[in-house]
Amino acid sequence: MVNINRDNYLQGVVDVWRCRKCKRLYCDDKRYGEPLKPEVGFASIPDDEKWGILTCTSAKEVSMNSLGVKPGKKIQHTCKGGVEYEFAIGPDYSLSPDVGQPIHRLYLVEDHMNSNIEAGYYKFTMR
Ligand SMILES: [Zn+2]
Repeated sequence: MVNINRDNYLQGVVDVWRCRKCKRLYCDDKRYGEPLKPEVGFASIPDDEKWGILTCTSAKEVSMNSLGVKPGKKIQHTCKGGVEYEFAIGPDYSLSPDVGQPIHRLYLVEDHMNSNIEAGYYKFTMR
């Protein structure tokens, strides 16, 4: 699993499960304070995509969700405040355009297996 931290507070967990037969990854988001999704089990993504975690960080909170990503793909995202964005995924899995606030980042699940993603506002803004 992958932990998403907000300045050292655990904000959410993505359960990652690898199929022993096909070696594919499956992800399931678990956010604190949100009811469980009605659908049971793990979502799957197309063969040519990788699992990514999109984090949306404001000074007040961090939200995140897992999704299938690949370079060149466009992803829609709605911030907690209701503002909608469309991001293009770059060759290095960066997001463009950079909208400033809130801060959006994309992480590859395979790079963060069994570790933490620090997505806190102060982590991003303190230099
Ligand atoms: Zn956002």
